[in-house]
Amino acid sequence: MKERRDRILVVESDPDVGDQFICRTLRPIGYEVKWVKDADTAIQEVSHFHPHLVVTNLSLPGLSGKDLIVALSGQGFEVPIIVISASGGEKDVIQAFRLGATDFIRQPLREAELVSVVERALKNSRERRERERLSQELKQTNWELERRVRELTTIIAIGKAVTSITNQKTLFERIVEGGMYVTDADSGWVLVREDKGPPAYYLVAQRNLPKEITDTVGKPWEDKLSLQVIDSGVAMSVHDERVASLGVEHLGAALLVLPIKAKSEVIGILGVARKLPRPFRPSDQTVLEAVSDYASISIVNSRLFRTLEERAEYLKRLAESAKTAERIKDEILQNVSHELRTPLVTAMGYIDMFVEGEMGEVVDEQSEALKAVQEKLRQVVDMIQAMTSLDQVVMPDDLEAISLNDLTQEVVGRFETLATEKNIKLAVRLPSQPVLAFADRKQISRVLDELITNAIKFSPDGGKVLVAVEYTTDNLARVCVKDQGIGIEADRQQLIFDRFYQVDGSMTRKQGGLGIGLAMVKNIVTAHGGQVWVESKPGKGSAFYFTLLPPGEIP
Ligand code: ADP
Repeated sequence: MKERRDRILVVESDPDVGDQFICRTLRPIGYEVKWVKDADTAIQEVSHFHPHLVVTNLSLPGLSGKDLIVALSGQGFEVPIIVISASGGEKDVIQAFRLGATDFIRQPLREAELVSVVERALKNSRERRERERLSQELKQTNWELERRVRELTTIIAIGKAVTSITNQKTLFERIVEGGMYVTDADSGWVLVREDKGPPAYYLVAQRNLPKEITDTVGKPWEDKLSLQVIDSGVAMSVHDERVASLGVEHLGAALLVLPIKAKSEVIGILGVARKLPRPFRPSDQTVLEAVSDYASISIVNSRLFRTLEERAEYLKRLAESAKTAERIKDEILQNVSHELRTPLVTAMGYIDMFVEGEMGEVVDEQSEALKAVQEKLRQVVDMIQAMTSLDQVVMPDDLEAISLNDLTQEVVGRFETLATEKNIKLAVRLPSQPVLAFADRKQISRVLDELITNAIKFSPDGGKVLVAVEYTTDNLARVCVKDQGIGIEADRQQLIFDRFYQVDGSMTRKQGGLGIGLAMVKNIVTAHGGQVWVESKPGKGSAFYFTLLPPGEIP
């Protein structure tokens, strides 16, 4: 069964063979057959009839069958040709094959042989055409594939550039080049929206744009096409008269302009153009959209980068002014302390003289009052001393092996009256073996003093303060001062060791103080090679810990 009506041109001078035998054999089985008597007519007929097969006798009046083969192949007709040869005409058949004949039939013709030769020739021809079509398709697919690989490679390269190139100008130039390459364009450009002032679009990178355009660097970019793309947020591909009607001929004869978007907001434009009016296809737009996505990432990155830089600059200025403020504060502190200390020392000298009786007799009551004044003045002088010495690194100058058990008991003993007054239970927990540390006794006594003062100060009425001494698993001496007081917020726990820092620094705060006690504690403990820290929960209480090296370890 034939799938379609194949057309066969028969060239035979003998009507009995051509018209009677061949046509009558082939037509009933579905072929469209045309019979001509000579080669000249056949040559003309070929271009009208478009046969799928030619059957020709080799001996024809005028031009021979071989001449016909030559003429047809000369005119580029690639149809299979079956030649009919007289018996004994082998030589002619061989020549015909050399000239391009497909098959032959010997006279006298037999019906079965004719049909089989014709069908075989047509089948082969169909198969050849199919092979050619497939090979053509394969070529096309290969070409498409190569193009896709080229596009993908370019897009990947742009992606890499976005993450590795920090110079924005170079990056946008890569994007323009990549965009031109994947769309086979002659020129390209990137515009970026600038929001300082009224929003406007500026050229940041371009390739092959006319000089009069590139000269406008620094001026906002305006053309009807870009404006439409910005307004609609949709890509536009224009060519032919549209280019002229939009007044953008100076950019090219075919243009593809895409919005660069960040979260659906247009932040820039990516454009490509061709010199010739060869329109951009939808597939060009698809790949250019991928490039435009990268452009969007780079614009967003560059904005973030700029914000970061501005922020870093702001912080730098802030840090500088903080440093200056700190320096001024130090200077004022030093000056004020100096100015205060001189009259205070003089005043203390006089008081001492009164107390010693060198200024005449004082009655007991007066002596008591003078001693109280003497004590208060000493406290003020100590306070000034503490304030001004905070900057200096404390050096433990009288190092010895001390028993923290003894020292703790001694210091805690000094607080008993105060604790009772404030209705606070002050407890000590000591191990049976003495915990030894290599330290300056006076300085560690001050540390304990500060921590216990704070623990009592920030404890509620009826609260409990525990001072515990022990060895850590690493064999360090450790002291803990624990209270059930107001506690400290997690984000403040580091800050309280800074000098002058107070969680509540307001004038209306309940507790007094200068915010220098813990700074001094840290100073002393660190100078001893130890560590100090706090564990605390607001409303539950705080536990201050400090460690010291055991005797034998050099701080
Ligand atoms: P101050 O003279 O203000 O007590 P410190 O340097 O000793 O200065 O302490 C700094 C700040 O740390 C205090 O103002 C207080 O806010 C907080 N603080 C210190 N010890 C305690 C504690 N035991 N409980 C709660 N807060 C404390």
